Amino acid sequence: MSRGAFLVILGKQGAGKGTQCVRLARNYAVPHVATGDMLRSEVRAKTELGLKAKAAMDAGELIPDEVVTAMVALRLDRDGAISKGFILDGYPRTVAQAEQLDTLLEPRKLDLVIDIEVPTGVVLRRLAARRVCLDCQAVYSTSSPPKVNWTCDICGGEVVQRDDDTEVAILRRLNLYEEETAPLIDFYSKKGILTTINGVGSTEVVTQRMIKEIDLALKNAGDT
Ligand code: AMP
Repeated sequence: MSRGAFLVILGKQGAGKGTQCVRLARNYAVPHVATGDMLRSEVRAKTELGLKAKAAMDAGELIPDEVVTAMVALRLDRDGAISKGFILDGYPRTVAQAEQLDTLLEPRKLDLVIDIEVPTGVVLRRLAARRVCLDCQAVYSTSSPPKVNWTCDICGGEVVQRDDDTEVAILRRLNLYEEETAPLIDFYSKKGILTTINGVGSTEVVTQRMIKEIDLALKNAGDT
């Protein structure tokens, strides 16, 4: 592929964004930039940002827009992602962040924003069963655990339940999604770069649905 892909993946918590983004990043050879993973690394490393962010994250609240955008700006600057391409997962999460992202990318524009649609009942079940590797953030579930004793198949890290996958924090995050993140659907559809895909189905089937849409968007961008 001659040019990278510039993508944003939206979807409720538990819609499968993380799992799908890892696969898409491999397919399009661009970095997977997941703000939740980045913030959890900051928390584990006990950096100033991590110490400030932990309480809000555990409660399912959002980190201030400017703080997250500054973190994303630094990440996109690294290894030239800002001009080579990226897949953003968990960012933007508010209209203010989406506007900040537009400014950050100027004059470039996003190729596509994909909203992975999954019914709330399904995401609630997925989140309650979700387990993640503390080291590489690989996602497992109680019905599909690592092969050996909650040790990550990929890196050998410890696989645990996230601190914010409690019932109270999950409900708070889903409410915030409706209030703060769902308006992005309108924001991006007005720009004509939003597509919605059905997130129910096997991991591979959902990946193929996404690849089909991305390839089409990249082809159209190449044709114009
Ligand atoms: P996630 O792994 O995407 O579910 O993110 C976990 C937590 O990190 C969220 O509940 C927020 O507290 C914080 N977070 C991640 N991304 C953002 C963002 N774009 N804006 C504000 N807070 C964020």
